[in-house]
Amino acid sequence: MLTPSCPLCTVPALLYAAGTADGGSFVDSPYTIAGGCDGCMPPMYRCGRCGHGFAPSAGPDTFAWYAAAPPDGEYLAEERGRRVAARRVLRRLAKHIRPPGRLLDLGAGAGFFVEEAAAAGWFSEGLEAARWAVERSRSRGGPPVWLGDARDLRALECGTFDVVTAFDVIEHLEDPLVFLRGCAAALRPGGVLVLTTPRFDSLAARICGARWHALLPAHLHYFSRRSLRAALEQAGFHILAERSHRRYFSAAYIAFRLCATPVRGAWMRRIVLPVNIGDEFELYAARIGADGTV
Ligand SMILES: [Zn+2]
Repeated sequence: MLTPSCPLCTVPALLYAAGTADGGSFVDSPYTIAGGCDGCMPPMYRCGRCGHGFAPSAGPDTFAWYAAAPPDGEYLAEERGRRVAARRVLRRLAKHIRPPGRLLDLGAGAGFFVEEAAAAGWFSEGLEAARWAVERSRSRGGPPVWLGDARDLRALECGTFDVVTAFDVIEHLEDPLVFLRGCAAALRPGGVLVLTTPRFDSLAARICGARWHALLPAHLHYFSRRSLRAALEQAGFHILAERSHRRYFSAAYIAFRLCATPVRGAWMRRIVLPVNIGDEFELYAARIGADGTV
């Protein structure tokens, strides 16, 4: 079998983890599209030059799959923690750019972030591929969340957004460079992109190897510090700040992941705890203008 090449460096990559036929420990995940085989974990490769990890997709229409995906109950149950994380990102964003202004959240889900952004003074809107998530957002009557995917970025008013955000989105996409260039086109020169994505060269990822929790059948790309910086620079961004993202989960979710068994008790959903083991990027980057300035 031919070894695939790194999508960023184009040098041949090395096999990092052999695939499994049953999805490994994530057999119950409905999000099993990488590799084009439902229910399996595809083989993964790692670039020896930039440290980028990737799982070649065997070609189902990724966006069509997400459009018809079933509701994600765990995502909805963790609303409280997601809103706490959103408010923390908005406070950090204000160090680089302040509202009012136009903010676009890509992969907006059920609209938790666009609602928090509106409360912070942004004219916010979202773009989301999953129909069920858009319907949830609209049912609350908050800021608009449009039904669409990364291909629809071009249909938006290019160059008019002050901020574009994409939380845990880029790792799901076939071509991260095309996505980042779309983000750059949506922003005005000097506008700020905020990204989060799992960190493949983190200590946690290296210790856990093929059993790292972020190796999921739905993820197609795993960025190292070097590969993420290279991709952003190729797409026309200047990096303003790089942090380790602090996530917030309910005690129920943390107990579930620790014990691998559902934990009962509504009170455990109400307690939200910070989690930061240094394996998730939180990156702020400015779009470089035609004259090379930000
Ligand atoms: Zn590479």
